[in-house]
Amino acid sequence: MTRVLVWFRNDLRIHDQAILIQALTHNPDIIIPVYCFDDRNFQTTSFGFPKTGKFRAKFLIEAVTDLKESLQKIDSNLIIRKGLPEKIIADIAIDYKVDLVCFSQEATAEEINVEKKLIQALNKANIKVKSLWQSTLYHPSQLPFSISQIPDLFTNFRKSVEKKSKIDSCVNIPQKIPPIPHINIGEIPTLKQLGLSDYQTSAKSVLHFRGGETEGINRLNDYFWQKDCLKDYKNTRNGMLGADYSSKFSPWLALGCLSPRYIYQEVTKYEKERVKNDSTYWLIFELLWRDFFRFIAVKYGNKIFHLSGLQNISLPWQENSSIFEKWCEGKTGYPLIDANMRELKLTGFMSNRGRQNVASFLTKNLGINWQMGAQWFESLLIDYDVCSNWGNWNYTAGVGNDARGFRYFNIPKQSKDYDYNGDYLRHWLPEIAHIKGEKIHEPWKLSSQEQKELNISLGVTYPRPMVDFFKSIKHNEKVYLSHSP
Ligand SMILES: Cc1cc2nc3c(=O)[nH]c(=O)nc-3n(C[C@H](O)[C@H](O)[C@H](O)COP(=O)(O)OP(=O)(O)OC[C@H]3O[C@@H](n4cnc5c(N)ncnc54)[C@H](O)[C@@H]3O)c2cc1C
Repeated sequence: MTRVLVWFRNDLRIHDQAILIQALTHNPDIIIPVYCFDDRNFQTTSFGFPKTGKFRAKFLIEAVTDLKESLQKIDSNLIIRKGLPEKIIADIAIDYKVDLVCFSQEATAEEINVEKKLIQALNKANIKVKSLWQSTLYHPSQLPFSISQIPDLFTNFRKSVEKKSKIDSCVNIPQKIPPIPHINIGEIPTLKQLGLSDYQTSAKSVLHFRGGETEGINRLNDYFWQKDCLKDYKNTRNGMLGADYSSKFSPWLALGCLSPRYIYQEVTKYEKERVKNDSTYWLIFELLWRDFFRFIAVKYGNKIFHLSGLQNISLPWQENSSIFEKWCEGKTGYPLIDANMRELKLTGFMSNRGRQNVASFLTKNLGINWQMGAQWFESLLIDYDVCSNWGNWNYTAGVGNDARGFRYFNIPKQSKDYDYNGDYLRHWLPEIAHIKGEKIHEPWKLSSQEQKELNISLGVTYPRPMVDFFKSIKHNEKVYLSHSP
């Protein structure tokens, strides 16, 4: 009798699920699918934020629930545990005399440490292990270089991969898998049991994000096939307001509810059946950024988490908590920053345009330790992905793989360029929503008379800018240049 344990991690799906297929190749009599809520993910970060905040935790609970239902439909189930996976998975494997444990490989230290400890325990018990890499669009074996030789510049990576590499096809969804043994199934924890409070999704949110592959696939069908948005993606992707300016696939990708190869397969189908253009190409281009950050994380290991980043640039970052709090709360006096930071705090999502601007403001205007920003994002983002988050923060802070040195976003200009009518600002900043025209982008330009007429008192009803934009840029640029090689 062959028994296989399938340990689900950030791969919560049954479509394009290589570890299930791997398990089935052994013709097992029993497959035991397990998900373990790792206690360490519900502790606090070094700057004191919940490591997994309520938005991501709820999305995770929904994703696990959906996976359980999908497995039930193919005659199986999902065993739920909470604790330390390296111990719990090994215990189940030993107790149920499992021959083989299959799981997906992760890219960063905390997750790899868990894998290593589990493998040690399984080796001791003479239980075989098969782990697979399946989180990226391109499998590492298809790359034209080894991971240690990945180019540090995205463009070089992309050009080479586009020319020389192939994307593997999705694997099939099993119609039926062998049953589970008699075992305590366990309960999916509630938010409260994870130490978090429940909440209602904000009506202002761009989308009602719900975890699970069913919802991920629904979103893809909606965005590609029902609303036919893909053909315009390149023109709309820099938006900030509404469900459809971008795909919003990121939360489902982060937990593996959507496979990047499945997205690729659907883009190819769309190109055949509807239209092939710059936009269809661009969605794949963006998925390549995701791959790039994942491979860079493997190449550089823990460096992506270090203050001096991938480039080893030691800068005298500030850790002033009252300044940092103004950024977190959306009270900087710069409407574009404030609107985005309030969206994040109230919904767990922020557009890519918003993320670039708020990260630039924190690091290039306020000179605050970028790790604090990265941890705040880690806590709140519904789509938190360790490699994409820390990789992008490295990049924006000027310590990552961006060869162009001190680059900053001109916040007032970005505000006018990407929110021309100020609709996004008005959506999130009720206290200044009644400012008509361009001045919504720069309320500090309102005269005393205008403030009076609008019943706005700068510094009281809405903050004055917490720093002078160009003076603070100049100051931080000087600091950067005097410390970088
Ligand atoms: C400071 C900062 C932190 C970020 N943190 C995260 C994070 O924790 N998780 C995360 O998924 N993305 C992160 N991003 C990247 C990007 O902002 C989001 O992937 C994107 O906004 C998600 O929305 P979407 O799915 O609608 O994107 P779309 O524009 O529809 O893009 C499609 C997919 O491409 C990938 N992608 C797009 N841009 C990037 C990028 N710059 N880096 C990596 N992948 C990308 C994502 O998987 C995304 O879902 C961060 C960006 C910045 C600047």
